[in-house]
Amino acid sequence: MRTPIIAGNWKMNKNPKETQEFLDGIKGKLPESGVEAIIGAPAIDLTTLVAGAEGTPLKTAAENSYFEESGAFTGETSPKALDEMGVDYVIIGHSERRQYFGETDEDINKKAHAILKNNMLPIICCGETLEQREAGKAESWVTGQIENAVKGISAADLVKSVIAYEPIWAIGTGKTATADQAQEMVHVIREKVASLYDADTADKVRILYGGSVKPANVKELMAKEDIDGGLVGGASMDPESFLALANFQK
Ligand code: PEP
Repeated sequence: MRTPIIAGNWKMNKNPKETQEFLDGIKGKLPESGVEAIIGAPAIDLTTLVAGAEGTPLKTAAENSYFEESGAFTGETSPKALDEMGVDYVIIGHSERRQYFGETDEDINKKAHAILKNNMLPIICCGETLEQREAGKAESWVTGQIENAVKGISAADLVKSVIAYEPIWAIGTGKTATADQAQEMVHVIREKVASLYDADTADKVRILYGGSVKPANVKELMAKEDIDGGLVGGASMDPESFLALANFQK
């Protein structure tokens, strides 16, 4: 049984004060069980977020971390420091990181190892462009991204980790993949995990869909067999909207 996940990704939005306001807005209203609610926030907000999440069902995520733990890497965020702060997850390989900051599959693999070594769990993003989809290359592209991202990761670590399928053409565009399109690719990813590991690992790993998920479409997406949750940008920013997503089973 895979526990569903609703994971917010605030991107480069909100300051610590706004983070506290969000926390006040969701206080006592998240489901105590049956779903894992996560907020991914900018590094500058994580102290506030972790403090506010303590003793509540909310889990926390950084939106990036470096693959080295310390040293002369100006501007980077240490996975060791994130763990010491009490952060639970780190989002890696988001298409915005790949597109604007040149993150490669190799970086993402190294980051995944560093995150796991530092007692946190990676949320590994993958997804194709519209051109790749139209050229019939989406499946090979996405499964290639996954194969590269998980190199050297044990089955025991992978089943605790999270994969997020986010077609680039559906992120922040208001254009959601249909539930069938999302299910189809998430299923392909699960089959890829089965071929790289085994059926049991594939059955246990949680795979999310991301791309314009909102309260109005979350139920339909979550009803699909292989979709274990959503990685949500825009609709995770407002407390009421995030609560509606986290309470999708009600
Ligand atoms: C995202 O940030 O990963 C995302 C899917 O954004 P949105 O929900 O706004 O499309």
